[in-house]
Amino acid sequence: MSDNGPSFDTLAVHAGAKPDPTTGARITPIYQTTAFVFEDVDHAASLFGLQAFGNIYTRITNPTTAVLEERVAALEGGTAGLCVASGHAAQLLVFHTLMQPGDEIVAANKLYGGSINQMNHSFKNFGWNVVWADTDDLTTFENAITPKTKAIFVESIANPGGVVTDMEALSKIAKRAGVPLIVDNTMATPYLCRPFEHGADIIVHSLTKFLGGHGNSMGGAIVDGGTFDWMREGRYPMLSEPRPEYNNIVIGEVFGNFAFAIACRVLGLRDLGPAISPTNSFNILTGIETLSLRMQRHCDNAQKVAEFLSEHPKISWVSYAGLPGDRYHKLQQKYMPKGAGAVFTFGVTGGYEAGVALVGKVELLSHLANLGDTRSLIIHPASTTHRQLSDEQKKAAGAGPDVVRVSIGIEDPADIIADLDQALA
Ligand code: PLP
Repeated sequence: MSDNGPSFDTLAVHAGAKPDPTTGARITPIYQTTAFVFEDVDHAASLFGLQAFGNIYTRITNPTTAVLEERVAALEGGTAGLCVASGHAAQLLVFHTLMQPGDEIVAANKLYGGSINQMNHSFKNFGWNVVWADTDDLTTFENAITPKTKAIFVESIANPGGVVTDMEALSKIAKRAGVPLIVDNTMATPYLCRPFEHGADIIVHSLTKFLGGHGNSMGGAIVDGGTFDWMREGRYPMLSEPRPEYNNIVIGEVFGNFAFAIACRVLGLRDLGPAISPTNSFNILTGIETLSLRMQRHCDNAQKVAEFLSEHPKISWVSYAGLPGDRYHKLQQKYMPKGAGAVFTFGVTGGYEAGVALVGKVELLSHLANLGDTRSLIIHPASTTHRQLSDEQKKAAGAGPDVVRVSIGIEDPADIIADLDQALA
């Protein structure tokens, strides 16, 4: 072990876990229970008053999920984690903790289509407004900031376009505005990129994707970077004002550098309720053990497939930051030098109809709305994930009519290429 503690690959296997003290079970058990027996009345009171840490009810904490939370936080280099039912639930809880009615989020216009929908529609019902900014022109972020802005939200590698965000430049803008930079690190995973090292304050994940990695379990995570000052100017009342239901404690004072994760748990998760199932936490923990091996293979395969497609006569363009000519190649080399991820888009000559035809002809690749599976996946965003967006929003999000998105799996790359080749033919 180095002086700095266990390395990333060791943490991926061990962080948060130890043999079960009662049974000796080496693998973290699935604690498939709704509730936990109190030692006595005083113990119960101290748990409910946040004077002691412990388990009450699986909506709020669960021992299997606690191992997952510690592991994701360790891999990202954060102070604490919170795992919930899905990536969208993680985003909901983050904003529920930061926002009051009338507040604003400045978000990148190149995001997963579901996140654009979440912010454009459901978040409006809470009175939270989103202002869209252009990842390719960071002055648009700066110009969008107002006194009502409470956060900046981006993806490290944006889905579906293969866009790499300049996080260091954005973190300077966030610092000047006094708001946290939130990075969705789903597509890169901490194996490729650790946003806290580039100025992020909060990281969110859809664990459903590469961290779980096998297309079998939904989950989401929030990781607290531990550096943001939540007490400054009282801009974040959920953290800076006394909580009557917890003996008037001020969460931002009492819980120091993991106050944000605590607030998301004891306010948002407690009241909104999107708890992850312990079985899904178990499946995702098992997936994370092989994260490094899988991610490297995903990236190596994606590089080969992108190179093949970029020379194919029926392909008009390929947007993969791993290609030397790509506009995001320099940013990829800076932020994720081990690889550009496994998800990218390309354009088929023949537009919308050709895109729909291609996804219908593949045999090895699965036509479905997911990414980050061991299997290779394909989708035509304009007719599926992004269909609810306007034509303008589709284009801005990198989901125009000719666009096809792939998530390259860990199969033999020759077989993936052969399947795409026959489908294009
Ligand atoms: N963030 C990104 C980048 C995604 O791709 C997705 C889903 O595809 C989400 C968040 C939402 O995650 P979930 O489907 O687990 O709610």
